[in-house]
Amino acid sequence: MTETFVLHKDLICHYSKYFKKALEGNFEEAKSGVVKLDDVDIRAFKSLVHWFYTQKIVAADSSGVEGASPAAIMEIQKALNPRYQTERAIDPFIKLYLLSDRLDIKRCRLDTFRALHDSLHKGSHAVLPSYGNLNLVWNGLPPTSGLRKYIIDMFGWYTQAHEEAWRTGMVRSRLERECLISIMAVICRKHADAVYGRSPPWIVDVCQYHEHESEGEKKACCIKSEPA
Ligand SMILES: [Zn+2]
Repeated sequence: MTETFVLHKDLICHYSKYFKKALEGNFEEAKSGVVKLDDVDIRAFKSLVHWFYTQKIVAADSSGVEGASPAAIMEIQKALNPRYQTERAIDPFIKLYLLSDRLDIKRCRLDTFRALHDSLHKGSHAVLPSYGNLNLVWNGLPPTSGLRKYIIDMFGWYTQAHEEAWRTGMVRSRLERECLISIMAVICRKHADAVYGRSPPWIVDVCQYHEHESEGEKKACCIKSEPA
């Protein structure tokens, strides 16, 4: 199904290097003013349109809780199976991040990471990313991606090696070999960190997972290691 969005060119070109190149270059799109995007998650695109006009992240989940805040979505899904709940809660953020990455919108990637980080670390319970979350970031983002590292670190930190899923081979069957190796490296580091009483890596330095415009911005980074 094709859906058409009418957006202000100056606005989207300001934020997105992809749209800027397409609409201000020597391409057909620049003449027609129409950019066709294949294989786009329509809910993620709607969240992106919302971000373009408000610079606020509204991650709609697949059950149609559109417009709800991430915290409200988490609340609604509290009663559901934890792993499922996690996937549903994290997926909208990951899909929006993937779209921001594809359309080269650095600011939206940063805002999405901040919203995800805040919502995952509210309250006292630990959140384990699902296999679905892992496969999305593993297949959709480059190895240098901060979000990919973040999700891998979270999974490695919160997974328990004695869990049923590890013993039965479930984890091995659901993830790619390289992805599994990255997770196992995190598990090894986690045990070493525990010996020395170190905090999770995102508490030690959350800036390793997201971008900065400059060194100055990094120093004054608005994302605090300890989420509010
Ligand atoms: Zn930072």
